[in-house]
Parts: sequence; C-alpha cells; structure tokens
Amino acid sequence: VAAPPRHILHVDMDAFFAAIVQRDRPELRGRPVLIGGDGPRSVVSTASYEARVFGCHSAMPMAQAKRLCPQAIIVGVPGEAIRVASAQVFGILEHYTPMVQPVSVDEAYLDVTGSARLLGDAVTIARKLKSEILTTLHLTASVGVAPNKFLAKLASDLNKPDGLTVIEPQRVQAILDPLPMGKIPGVGPAQSARLSKIGVKTIGDLRQTPRQLLGQWFGAEHADHLIRLANGQDDHPVADDREAKSIGQEQTFGVDVEDAHEVRGVLLQQCEQVGRRLRKHGVAAQTVTVKIRYGDFETITRAATLPEPTDLTDDLWHAGRAIFDRWASASFRPVRLIGITASKLTPAGQVQHSLFADPQREKKQALDRTLDTIAGKFGKRAIGRAGPDRKS
Ligand SMILES: [Mg+2]
Repeated sequence: VAAPPRHILHVDMDAFFAAIVQRDRPELRGRPVLIGGDGPRSVVSTASYEARVFGCHSAMPMAQAKRLCPQAIIVGVPGEAIRVASAQVFGILEHYTPMVQPVSVDEAYLDVTGSARLLGDAVTIARKLKSEILTTLHLTASVGVAPNKFLAKLASDLNKPDGLTVIEPQRVQAILDPLPMGKIPGVGPAQSARLSKIGVKTIGDLRQTPRQLLGQWFGAEHADHLIRLANGQDDHPVADDREAKSIGQEQTFGVDVEDAHEVRGVLLQQCEQVGRRLRKHGVAAQTVTVKIRYGDFETITRAATLPEPTDLTDDLWHAGRAIFDRWASASFRPVRLIGITASKLTPAGQVQHSLFADPQREKKQALDRTLDTIAGKFGKRAIGRAGPDRKS
C-alpha cells in the first residue's frame, strides 16, 4: 500500500549571519562581508553574496578568503543578534505547522501536509512564509517544496538566494538525474571522485548502476540507501519534539574547525535553541550530552547529569560549556561536528526546586522568557535586547 503523499518544506535562510549584519549595519549593504574570527586559524562562518562572487565561502580559512577578496569587511560572529533572529524565524515557522524539525539555527524541515485545509497548498504556504520572514525580519529565506525531506533540501539549494523551488512528484527523476553525486547526503568528495573514475558522475548514472555492483563498493545496506535516494525516495518523517525522549541539535562543518572558540560559539547557539524547545514543550532535562566528531569521523560523546532537571538555557550552556572546555583543554582536535542533546526529560511543572536553588534563577528565567516571547511574536517587528554576556 502506498503511503499518502506528504508535503515537506525545507527552509534555509540565505547567508544568515552575513544577512543579519548587513541588515543591522546599512553601511555594509552591497559590500563583501566575511563573518568569522580574524585569527590565523579562523574559518569563515558565512560569506555575504557579494563576497561569494570572489570565490569566498563558508568553512574556508579566513586567511584564504582575505587573499581572494582583500576589500572584504570582516565582522565577528554576532552571537546575540543571531540568537534573536533565529528565535524569530522559528517563531514564524511554527505558525504554519506544529511539525517543525530544526536542523540548525537557520534551517528547518516542515511537514505542512495537515495545514492545507486552513492555509492552502504547500506552495502557497511556502510563499506566505517567505514573505512573512521578509516583512517581519527583513531577511530572505530559500524554500524547497517536495514530497520528502531529501528532495525538499535539495530543492531549497537549487535557486538561492530568495528561492522557491518546487519538485513535483512527476519531475523528480528529471531534476535528480543530471545532478552530481555529491548532492546525495553522505557521499563525500573522496567517494564522488572514486565513483567518477568508474563513470558514475551523476545521480542518473548511479541509478543505472546494477545494485549488485554498488553493494560490492558500499556494502549492501548503504547501497540500498543510495539507490533509494537516487530514485528520489526518502520516508524519514519530520521529527518534531512532541513525542521526543530527547531534544538535541547538531551541526556539521564543511571543514575541520581548528578554533575552539568558534566551536563554542556554535555550541552556545545550540543550547539556546534546545532550551527554547524544552520550554515550548513544557519539559525539563536532567542530562546534557555533548557530541564531538573529528575529521576522520571518530566521534566522542560526554554526558553530565544536572543536580535537578532544568529548562533554562543558561543551565544547559553551563553544563555543555563545562564538558566542552574540559575536553578542549585536555585533548583539543579540530572539530568536524558539534552537537548537544538534552535528555531524561520530565514535565517542567513537576520539578521541585531545592532550597539552595540558584539565586540567579529568576533572572535567567526572565531572559529566556524574553527571547521566547520574541520567538512567539507574529507579524510584528520584534526588538531584541542584549542578554548578559554569557561568554566567559
Ligand atoms: Mg542557510
């Protein structure tokens, strides 16, 4: 029995960090901007579209980007502005469906299958959502509309910036076949190069390759996975947090990031988003797990148990940062992926706070509420206030 058709959106903000900076500093509009640190080992977090013309892109060493575009203006990662804008973006997305799966601070999957009756078809929803983000936040998003997550993500990337790309079920193969192998998640540059040598250059080539041969190269399981994707099939659900046993966030970098401070900045943003999701669902977490992956795919996880369950961003950050710093000071290696997960969830209302509860707790709660409110604002230009400096 065929599953009923789904309508999935992938929303990806355009050059998010750079766009925020150019929005807030009009003198930088139309000029090449590189977001990131300016140290010898710094990496570009985001290049504005004006800088991309010169070949600069995210994950590139800053020194290399500066050689390509000496006139670029370098701006440090605007952490607080990103956290506010990200909360605002997710606040908007959640008005179109409760089924929102965050991928990073500026990227999410939405299942809008159930929203059609109230809000219109998937393309109408994509259009509304883009225009609301633009008028409310003065930022642009690219949106892919497709029957599944794999195709929706692929689509959002096809017409950046400010794109709206629809892959109708009957056009799937026509769109997929000419694309390079590297468009399939999990097929890295090394694997693409190897496949290319034996004539498998495009997704169409892959689709024509006998299953048995692919099985010899990749192992049967991975081969089956690749064949499904090459045929545009992906039945992964959009995983929102309602039934979750844990709530987490992770990000893969394009290169190994050598600057611990930059990795930490990403970890802080992840804590902010995980905290917001805990509060939204009325749950508190007692375990915080940090995941770190190196370039060779070796992965470590380190967990901490909190004295009592919490839904405060600051508590998550305190625990996550302690884990990260302990690891970084003892055995730092360039990082390919960083992630944080909150687990052992209990309803927040049932948490008994001890007599020795954090005296700052109310202040921290107020700050979280402020950011959550900003996230929940609808159709108004929300104004963020800077929180206390949480970087140590
Ligand atoms: Mg983006």
